[in-house]
Amino acid sequence: MPTALIVGAGPAGAALAYLLAHRGIEVTLLERQLDFSREFRGEILMPSGVLAIEEMGLGDAMNSVSSVDQKSISLYLNASLVFRQELGSDALESVPVRAISQPQFLEMLVTEAGKSPCFRLERGTSVKGLLFEDGRVVGVRARTRAGEKSFKADLVVGADGRASAVRRHGGFTDRHASPPIDVVWWKIPCPNDWNGPCAFIGKGHLMLLYQSWDGNLQIAWIIIKGSFRELKQRSPGDWAREMAAQVSPEISSHLEACKDKLQHPFLLDSVSDCVDSWSVPGALLIGDAAHTMSPVGAQGVNIALRDTIVATNHLVPALFSEDTAILDRALRAIEEERAPEVNHIQRLQGLPPRVVMSSAWWSEPVRKLLAKILVHPGVRVRAANHVTGFAFGVADVSLEV
Ligand SMILES: Cc1cc2nc3c(=O)[nH]c(=O)nc-3n(C[C@H](O)[C@H](O)[C@H](O)COP(=O)(O)OP(=O)(O)OC[C@H]3O[C@@H](n4cnc5c(N)ncnc54)[C@H](O)[C@@H]3O)c2cc1C
Repeated sequence: MPTALIVGAGPAGAALAYLLAHRGIEVTLLERQLDFSREFRGEILMPSGVLAIEEMGLGDAMNSVSSVDQKSISLYLNASLVFRQELGSDALESVPVRAISQPQFLEMLVTEAGKSPCFRLERGTSVKGLLFEDGRVVGVRARTRAGEKSFKADLVVGADGRASAVRRHGGFTDRHASPPIDVVWWKIPCPNDWNGPCAFIGKGHLMLLYQSWDGNLQIAWIIIKGSFRELKQRSPGDWAREMAAQVSPEISSHLEACKDKLQHPFLLDSVSDCVDSWSVPGALLIGDAAHTMSPVGAQGVNIALRDTIVATNHLVPALFSEDTAILDRALRAIEEERAPEVNHIQRLQGLPPRVVMSSAWWSEPVRKLLAKILVHPGVRVRAANHVTGFAFGVADVSLEV
């Protein structure tokens, strides 16, 4: 029976393990953490992610995962409302934008994978290197709870995220286009009359607020890269005042009332990059390991899930062929199919920080002009068509095996 080693049980690795194991591939999934809640994990699923999960046949299993559907999105410029757009309406073909608990989502994926006898999960196993034979990757070297261990398989998949060990040890090269931003996170209680996600844009600042899967209000304060050290030295009262100046009056008083909850800001540095080639003989990268996604537009989990569907289509027949030349061709075909969407989305993700966070002389007039034209619903629909890739992706992705 063909074998695959998947490194990393994030959305990409856990979903691929589920799909391959149920198609008769012997899958070993290696995850360095013992518990999925140990790492920060993105939690907004766009309609493309919701549809990808349904495509995998996991629509019903998702009922066990805590989630909150987002009702509408509002855009504010300099604290004034520019527009509010209903979500899950005709415009989005009734597919919701959903905040989910990612730890629960990953538990659900490995539980579903475990319903196949072909699946094995090794928690607390951190990959430290790759095994090569005649220039081909044939396995990994890992630190496990029982000490150093080698694992071998017909295929190694690096789904180990932005600091991928498979990328590092596999001789992959990459190109960076990281946005000059970082994100500071807080969770505070949600106001009772909460309507849906709000984006507050102003001179040199951007804040996003949405209701998280646990009912709390998630604050994402986007700051200029490197400015966190200075921010951390200030008090929660200072942060509340600075944020309050950027938002609508209702949110401003809510922030002031909750300032005691703004105790421990959590910094997530934003990275955007892509490897020059997603595969080497015997090994493939998918998800953030291949193309780390910035947080703009909440894309990374969705793109990772779409990678796994395309990877499954190519890998299943290639692994059963037991021919390494066919397998290596399949690895290149996965990249050929996925790279155009990833490149397109990464280009789209690069635009908002450049306009919103810029303090160049032209940036404020551009923001004001945008606000004026976006007031008109017709213009908004046309603008939405340009960024519709954020909601649905730009490629047809369906499971064919
Ligand atoms: C601030 C911020 C907010 C974001 N918000 C969203 C959002 O709302 N929606 C969205 O779609 N995307 C979001 N993203 C992006 C998203 O989190 C990632 O793109 C997505 O998690 C990628 O999934 P993945 O499976 O490829 O990698 P990961 O989720 O990073 O999973 C990698 C897994 O590999 C494991 N691992 C790492 N190294 C090893 C090793 N050596 N050995 C074994 N295991 C290893 C890790 O423990 C982890 O479980 C956000 C990103 C940031 C920075």
